[in-house]
Amino acid sequence: MQCPVCSRQVNDEAELMACLTGHLREEATRQAREMQRIYLMMMASQLTIACVTTRSTPQDVVGTFGEVYGLLENLVGKNDVSAEIEEWLKKHGPDSNE
Ligand SMILES: [Zn+2]
Repeated sequence: MQCPVCSRQVNDEAELMACLTGHLREEATRQAREMQRIYLMMMASQLTIACVTTRSTPQDVVGTFGEVYGLLENLVGKNDVSAEIEEWLKKHGPDSNE
């Protein structure tokens, strides 16, 4: 008997179930990260808009997107994403608060 996913030889159904469960868990983790990446991409564009509201030359827009995207790339897989984004915004946000 062998696992249909990874072709590993298994001795009985219990071992097969254990192997399949492991694959399901891996897949769930992968999908969660993928969803987070999509979410962060959307956040990147929103943050970019927010950041360039007060300084809006094309160079700034491109530079800011790079900064924001770099920040968000670093956040993939982290748990406390919103706290890190808030911290980043405090450092990079416009000086004037209206
Ligand atoms: Zn397997």
